[in-house]
Amino acid sequence: MQVILAQPRGFCAGVVRAIEIVERALEKYGAPVYVRHEIVHNRHVVEALKAKGARFVEDVSEVPANAVTIFSAHGVARSVQEEAAARSLPVLDATCPLVTKVHNQGKRYVAQGRVLILIGHAGHPEVEGTMGQIEAPVFLVQTEKDVDLLEIPVDTPVAYVTQTTLSVDDTRGIIAALERRFTDIVGPDIRDICYATQNRQTAVRELSRLVDVILVVGAKNSSNSNRLREIGAEAGIPSYLIADGSELEPDWVRGAGRVGITAGASAPEVLVEDVIDALRRLGPVEVSTLPGREENIEFRLPTELSPRMMATTVSGDQI
Ligand code: SF4
Repeated sequence: MQVILAQPRGFCAGVVRAIEIVERALEKYGAPVYVRHEIVHNRHVVEALKAKGARFVEDVSEVPANAVTIFSAHGVARSVQEEAAARSLPVLDATCPLVTKVHNQGKRYVAQGRVLILIGHAGHPEVEGTMGQIEAPVFLVQTEKDVDLLEIPVDTPVAYVTQTTLSVDDTRGIIAALERRFTDIVGPDIRDICYATQNRQTAVRELSRLVDVILVVGAKNSSNSNRLREIGAEAGIPSYLIADGSELEPDWVRGAGRVGITAGASAPEVLVEDVIDALRRLGPVEVSTLPGREENIEFRLPTELSPRMMATTVSGDQI
C-alpha cells in the first residue's frame, strides 16, 4: 500500500502558540494553571497538558481565586473577559491573532454603522466568541439558504465576517448569496478563512486526485478537520475523520492501493504516525509526502511569556 501525506498538514501557528502559552505558563507560574475550554480541539493535546498540570474548565466561575487563567485559541466573548476581570483573575489570552483580527474587523464595521453578519457554525466556540465580542446584534448565517431568511431590509448597510476555519468554497457561495441580496454590503479584502485552513484545504484537494481513500487525522469537534474530510468526500473519495490509529477500520482501506493522509490544524504529527503504524499492521506500506506550500508563519507570545520576561519571576497579579 502506498501512503501519501498531504503537505501542509497538522499544527498551524495559532495552535503552536496556544500550546506554548500553556506550557510556558506552567513553567513560569507552576501547576495548576486553568484553561477555559480545550486549548485546541484535540484530546491528545489536552491530555498531555493535563499531565503537566493544566486544568480545563468550561466556565471562568470554575477557576479558583487568583489562579492563572488561559483563554483558548478560539477566543472568548467580552462577557468572559469581564467576568475574569471582575474576579481579578490573572489572564493569559491564547486567542489566535487571526481570530482577534476578525473580532477587530467586525467591531470596525459596526462602528461604521453597518449591520454585521457572521458566516460560521452555530455553537462553535469561535463563533460564540466573535458574536460576544461585538456590542451590537450579529446575524449568523451557516448556509446559502440562511441568507434568504435574514430579517434585514435589503438596502440596509451590512458587512460580513467569517469564521476562520470554514471551507473556502462554501464561504464563497454564501458571500455571493449575500452580495445578491444586499445593495450596500462590504467584507474584508482578504477573506477571513485563515492561511492554515486554506493551505490544508488546497493540499487535501491535490491529495484527492491521487488516492483511493483519505484519512483525516483530527478531533470530531475540530471545525477545520471536518472541512478537510468534507472536501475529500466532495471530490468523490471516501474520506474518514479519525482521532488516531485505534479508530482505523480495516474495511476502509481494504483493496486501496493508495491511501492519503492529512491532519487538521490541531492534530499533532505523532497522531499521523500512529495512523501510519496502524496501516502497517495491515500490511507493508510505502510512505511519501506531496510537495506542498511551505509555512513559516509564527505568532508572538504574550510579552509576559516571552523568553526575556521568563527570566524574571513575577507574581500572578502582575500577569
Ligand atoms: S486554524 Fe487558523 S485561525 Fe485557527 S488557530 Fe490555526 S492559524 Fe489561527
